[in-house]
Amino acid sequence: MLSVDEALRAVLSRATARPAVVCPLAESLGRVLAEDIASDIDSPPHDKSLVDGYAVIAVDVADGSTELQILEEVTAGELPTQIVTRGKATRIMTGAPVPSGADSVVMVEQTQHVAGSGLGLVRLASSKVTHGQNIMRRATSMTKGQRVLHSGCEIRPIEIGVMAEVGRTQVRVVRQPSVAVLGTGNELVPASQTPAAGQIRNSNGPMLVAAAEAWGAAPVDLGFARDDRADLRRLISAGLERDVLIISGGVSAGVLDLVPGALNELGVEQVFHKVNLKPGKPLWFGALSGPAGDKLVFGLPGNPVSSLVCFELFVRPAIGRLSGRSDVTPRTTKARLTAAFSQRADRPTYFPARLAMLGDEPTIEPLAWQGSGDLRTLAEANALAYFPACQQEFAVGETICVLPLGR
Ligand code: AMP
Ligand code: MG
Repeated sequence: MLSVDEALRAVLSRATARPAVVCPLAESLGRVLAEDIASDIDSPPHDKSLVDGYAVIAVDVADGSTELQILEEVTAGELPTQIVTRGKATRIMTGAPVPSGADSVVMVEQTQHVAGSGLGLVRLASSKVTHGQNIMRRATSMTKGQRVLHSGCEIRPIEIGVMAEVGRTQVRVVRQPSVAVLGTGNELVPASQTPAAGQIRNSNGPMLVAAAEAWGAAPVDLGFARDDRADLRRLISAGLERDVLIISGGVSAGVLDLVPGALNELGVEQVFHKVNLKPGKPLWFGALSGPAGDKLVFGLPGNPVSSLVCFELFVRPAIGRLSGRSDVTPRTTKARLTAAFSQRADRPTYFPARLAMLGDEPTIEPLAWQGSGDLRTLAEANALAYFPACQQEFAVGETICVLPLGR
C-alpha cells in the first residue's frame, strides 16, 4: 500500500497545467498568469509630489528664503505653467507634477499661508529642506517596456492593480480546471428530500462541489449514481468530459463497490488503489489520457470525513497543479497538544482538531470525533492533527504535526 507521500507524488506526476486562455482582467482573480506582463508606460509618468504642500528649491530655503511668493496652484491631473525660481514656491497637491525649477516639496502641515498680493506668501516652519524630499521621480516604479509580472505568478488583487496600471484589460491565464462531482450509492437521496428508512442524504456531492470551487476549479454536480453498472457507466462517461472526475463511494470492498470496475471498463487507467492512511484508505486514483493532458479520476471513500480528508491531501494539490501552480503540497505546521491523545492505529491518522493560538504558541485540541461518518464534528475542526501509526499515548504539551484546513 502506498504512503500518503508516494500517493501524492503519483497524483502530481499525472497532473499537468491546463492550456492557456485569454480572459478579461476582471475575471482573472485567483488564476495563474500564462504570459509575462510588460509595462506600456513609465510610472510615475512625471516627477510627482507625494504630499500636499509647496514645491520649492532646497538650497534657496537653506539660504534663508523661508517666506516664498506663491506662483500658482497645481492639483493632480493639471500641469504646472510656471518655473519655480529663488524666492518662489508653487502650491502643489499629492500626485501633481513637480514644476520645473523646484526640487523638493514641503508638507503643507509645516507651512503657514500669509495673505498678500496674488496668491499670497507661504511661510515655512523650518529652513531644513532635503533635496528631493517628498518627490517620487519619474519611472522609479516601472519603466516603459519593463517586465512587471512573470508568467506563473498567481493573480491576487495586487496583480490585478498592476495590470490595470499598465493598461491590460485582457490577460492570458492557465485555464481553470473543470471538475465533475459524482456520488454513488443506492442509499442516497438529494438534500431536498427526507430520507426514508435505510436512506441518507447525499452530503458528499455538495461538499465536494464546494471544495472544488473553493480551490479554484469550475465544478459541475452530476448528482449521484445507483450502485448499478449501467448507471455508473452513464454518469462516469459524462464526468470524463471534464479535467477531473471526483467520485465518492463505491471504492471499498463491499459487494456493491462497483466504481473501480466501471472505471476500468471505460478505459481509465488505475494508478493506485488504497493508501496507508486513516481515514481514507480505500482511495482510488486513475487517469485517462486526453489532448489537453491527462484527465484525473479520484474515487474517494464514501464516508464524508474520509472524502474530505482525501480531497485535502490529494485532490486539492491536483487542482492546484492543473491550475498552473507549482507550490501545491499541503502545508503542515507544528502545535502543542492541549489534551492527551491515545493513538491506537496501524495507519497514519489525520484526526479532526481545533488549532488555536495560546499567546504566540500554536496549540491543537483533538475533537471528540466519532469516526469517518461524523461530519458534524469535522465542522468544529479547522485542522487535522497528524499521528503516526503506533500504539502510543501522546501527552499534554507534546508537539505534533498539524494540517490546517481551509486557507
Ligand atoms: P461506500 O464508500 O460507498 O462504502 O460508503 C461508505 C459510507 O459512506 C456509507 O455509510 C455510505 O452510506 C456513506 N456515503 C456514501 N456516499 C455518500 C454521500 N454521497 N454522502 C454521504 N454519505 C455517503
Ligand atoms: Mg456505497
